[in-house]
Amino acid sequence: MTTNAQEFARARGAMPGGVNSPVRAFGSVHETPRFFVSASGPYVTDVEGHEYVDLVGSWGPAILGHAHPAVVKAVQDAAAHGLGFGASTPGETELAELIAARVSRDGEAKPVERVRLVSTGTEATMTAIRLARGATGRDLIVKFAGHYHGHSDGLLAEAGSGVATLAMPGSAGVPAPIAAQTLVIAYNDLDAVREVFAARGDDIAAVIVEAAPANMGIVPPADGFNAALADIAHAHGALLILDEVLTGFRVGPAGWYGIDPVAFSPDLITFGKVVGGGLPLAALGGSAALMDLLAPLGPVYQAGTLSGNPLAVAAGRTTLDHLDDAAYARIDGAATTIADAAASALSDAGVTHVVQRSGNLFSIQFAAEAPTDYDTVKAQEAFRYPPFFRAMLAQGVSLPPSVFEAWFVSAAHDGTAVSRIVEALPAAARAAAEA
Ligand code: PMP
Repeated sequence: MTTNAQEFARARGAMPGGVNSPVRAFGSVHETPRFFVSASGPYVTDVEGHEYVDLVGSWGPAILGHAHPAVVKAVQDAAAHGLGFGASTPGETELAELIAARVSRDGEAKPVERVRLVSTGTEATMTAIRLARGATGRDLIVKFAGHYHGHSDGLLAEAGSGVATLAMPGSAGVPAPIAAQTLVIAYNDLDAVREVFAARGDDIAAVIVEAAPANMGIVPPADGFNAALADIAHAHGALLILDEVLTGFRVGPAGWYGIDPVAFSPDLITFGKVVGGGLPLAALGGSAALMDLLAPLGPVYQAGTLSGNPLAVAAGRTTLDHLDDAAYARIDGAATTIADAAASALSDAGVTHVVQRSGNLFSIQFAAEAPTDYDTVKAQEAFRYPPFFRAMLAQGVSLPPSVFEAWFVSAAHDGTAVSRIVEALPAAARAAAEA
């Protein structure tokens, strides 16, 4: 048997930082990353044989719990029929129809008439942006500071010095002229949105927004924010790209679109994570008029060798099929219990905190007032999270290894799993207090 430390040392000799995605290196929590060998329901098991109650959920996809028997069987059945054909399959159409049918809201026209399947959320948002540019003949994109939409060049951009100032590269390797096609503004700030459109409205192709931001911890949209955003964008002939890669089919059957307190009309919606049921699959959708601008019908090019892979389609379809009202009720109930227990443990330990929620997604923030944007999120006492995280891990609970990530509950988090989390919280809260 090897140890996590031995695995990490070996991995660092083979892969940059020992990982294939940076957050897995546990850098911000100062802890040896766990190397997992199996997972079932709400539990994951590492190479040392330690079992943890998991609140990462593969960063979202494991909404039914890990290795859900029906999903595993669907993937096995699909594999037995061929791993992929590089050609169309009936299952792709069924998944596209399922997505279009689910994303609905009483009294509103369905925003998704056509769907394109891709393999990652990054591809979904990248394609949505190309489509918005192709449709409008404009180049500029507006995004919000602290929102994550994947790692395509133009979306790794950081705010310039003023609201309507073109952005700077957010990573080495991003050419400044590409970052300069993005305008980065503060979240939840409609004045900033109005200002940027007043200054550059004729050149803006689209605003891209996380439907309910979860990549700076949870920062809910102010009531009506998404609706106002849609109105402002549309008044200037720009599109609204609603990024539901994280929230889609997680916070409810129709994603955040279905539960936002104020109805609104996004032009393009991106999906990922849950829609692939744990395998690499993501999607974008919108009206037929817009989506049919994609190749082969239209002039906007997009393609993918593994797009609509039959194993991924089988996992996604089966996952959506099992996400009924009862499943969402279980997820919402467990999320409430855990979020409330975290808040009271932190209160008992005298730790200044807020627990912010967007549906069944939540995270803790070490701040006296609920952060509303990236600046206020960054101002929290983030140093309290590493000891909190490590104390939970030592007690067998695997939290996201960063304070800027949401906690992901699944439908498999039953009473036993939730109790193990709740019992671990007081010691973790005391560790946070002593930081
Ligand atoms: N958009 C959002 C809102 C996300 O949370 C993520 C991933 N965390 C992405 C896009 C990118 O998805 P992927 O990692 O599959 O490329």
